[in-house]
Amino acid sequence: MRLPFFLISTVVLCGLLSCSKKETQIIDKLIVYVSIAPQKYFVEKIGKDLVDISVLVPPGSSPHTFEPKPSQMTRISTADILFTIGIDFEHAWIPRIRDNAKKLKIIASDMNIEKLKSTDIHDHHENNDSDSHDPTDNNGLDPHIWLSPELVKTQAYTIYNALCDTDSTHKSQYLKNLNIFLKEIDSLQLQIRSILKNCPHNDTFMIFHPAWGYFAKEFNLTEYPIEIDGKEPSPKELAQIIDFAKNNNIKTIFVQPQFSAQSANQIAHELGATVATVNDLSDKWAENLINTTKLIGTCKQ
Ligand code: ZN
Repeated sequence: MRLPFFLISTVVLCGLLSCSKKETQIIDKLIVYVSIAPQKYFVEKIGKDLVDISVLVPPGSSPHTFEPKPSQMTRISTADILFTIGIDFEHAWIPRIRDNAKKLKIIASDMNIEKLKSTDIHDHHENNDSDSHDPTDNNGLDPHIWLSPELVKTQAYTIYNALCDTDSTHKSQYLKNLNIFLKEIDSLQLQIRSILKNCPHNDTFMIFHPAWGYFAKEFNLTEYPIEIDGKEPSPKELAQIIDFAKNNNIKTIFVQPQFSAQSANQIAHELGATVATVNDLSDKWAENLINTTKLIGTCKQ
């Protein structure tokens, strides 16, 4: 269903001022849902004012453990498109959303993307407790594909194709917006490389929840996670992490607002390092990548 969007200011004004000419403009917007906030940024770039976008996972919630509210399930049943990203909660909820909304197009925005195995990141830890929560999708693959600008280009094409398929009359506008967005991503990549080149930084950065693996891969960095299989590390594991941090001269420990910072604070305290918050789910996607890069590099640009 399309949402009629009425521009009524002229009508209201003319009603009050008794103008002779009355005008009502109706714009049909596509109703689009996305799983997480960064996807809203991508769809907005390509759909601009032709789309009305809602995000399923609200700010402060983790998409690894989120469950949609009944009211969201009702509203989504009237939408045109849902862009999934391939993250944990979708595996349980997408079949239910599909049953509830037969006409909704569900587009996997992780299509055509080769994912990294999440298990690699835990090689340095001891493996225990198999029934704990793991921050991966169901195949043991890392879902955080929205943090690599190069992979976002692929996602942008997928979004563009889905918008054109659903609303072919505005194809030329979507194409124009796509090309502008791709150029913006090119310049973002140059900016990130320039920050890393000009600011002294450690190639390895330590973070609680391992969301930045694709970003690290694209920019030749190494992400060292504190979280183990979705949980705080045990005291023994914590001691190993602290040893690693000392040996690798780690000065900053990154944490995320959606996760507990207890072990990160402990590690920082042991090392005399600082704790910095980075949010991998920010809706200000480009600005957030720049700010995170500046935190990884030690100078401000
Ligand atoms: Zn995550």
